Amino acid sequence: MTTMRWGLVGASDIAETRMVPAMRRLGHDVVAVASGSAERAATYADRNGISVSGTVADILARDDIDAVYISSTNEHHRPQTELAAAAGKHVLCEKPLALSLEDGQAMVDACARAGVTLATNHHLPGSGIHRTIRRLVADGAVGRILAVRVHHAVLLPARLRGWRLGSPAGGGVTMDITCHDASVLNPLLGALPADIVALAATQGPWGAAAEDAVMSTLRYADGTLVQTHDAFTIAYAPTGLQVLGSDGTIESAGAFIQDPLGTILLRDASGERAVEPEDRGDLYEINVAAFAAAVRGDGTPTSTGVDGLRAVQVALAVREAAASGRRVSIAS
Ligand code: NDP
Repeated sequence: MTTMRWGLVGASDIAETRMVPAMRRLGHDVVAVASGSAERAATYADRNGISVSGTVADILARDDIDAVYISSTNEHHRPQTELAAAAGKHVLCEKPLALSLEDGQAMVDACARAGVTLATNHHLPGSGIHRTIRRLVADGAVGRILAVRVHHAVLLPARLRGWRLGSPAGGGVTMDITCHDASVLNPLLGALPADIVALAATQGPWGAAAEDAVMSTLRYADGTLVQTHDAFTIAYAPTGLQVLGSDGTIESAGAFIQDPLGTILLRDASGERAVEPEDRGDLYEINVAAFAAAVRGDGTPTSTGVDGLRAVQVALAVREAAASGRRVSIAS
């Protein structure tokens, strides 16, 4: 299979703005789109030059679709993944993979049983910037990592101020953004945090029903400390990742976004120097290409289903810590 024939499950903003263009740039076919509303599916298909629209069952029954890209709201990810796996379709599912560990594990199990590939569409861990930072760490550029700081406080665009601000669809900044942080931290540190404390707030002018700002502190079994700040409410701050080690510091600015931008600075005993990322490839193309290759048996997706589940595990623990005011531990 040199190209992939996709069915979109979910007539979403992210499919329209990022994923369909990425698929097409790679020469993949976007065959069909499914939505909960026939009218919405038809309008969306028309607007995006997709020839087929229908229900999820309609598109899963087609034999001209190899894989589905699920970008519905989060509560649909599990049932739609299970249906797709049962129909023998490979699944690239949006983050957060699921709203509970039980749901996420069921998705991983369903795809394993069906022998189809499951991946999570975390766009940050595969970026040239984050691959380069992992390589610098593996090469010993900072010595032993002692602490990491993540600044991922942004302003939620007006067009996205719907279900994310609190609904049964899994709103709240922790499931939306902290899970992105975890998708970068987990492969960087090679472990999940052991203990987590956090505080959250509702700050925005929109009267959100869920938290729209959260700060957390994570402690790892080896003593590494991590701070995260995730928010929908901060308009004028760059995103950032700082890796503070015994022999040096890596400081990345502006890379926790959807475009392949940002910088890396390495500071150690010999001074300070800029490091160019390995590449500046489109973050969504990287995911689609890695997924298609994995389906062909060549390598693994940027974030597997299990990687997505581990990111959910950290986000759920942060949310629980903030809601309860207690320290939450993750068993190793
Ligand atoms: P949207 O709100 O655009 O779409 C989600 C669902 O909401 C759609 O599938 C659609 O349901 C329904 N919907 C959307 N617009 C309307 C409307 N005008 N009227 C009625 N229903 C509507 O969500 P996003 O694209 O922001 O997010 C989708 C998923 O992608 C989420 O899981 C999110 O976390 C993830 N995401 C990931 C990003 C990444 O960088 N990896 C970035 C942004 C989002 P239906 O399909 O039934 O019509």
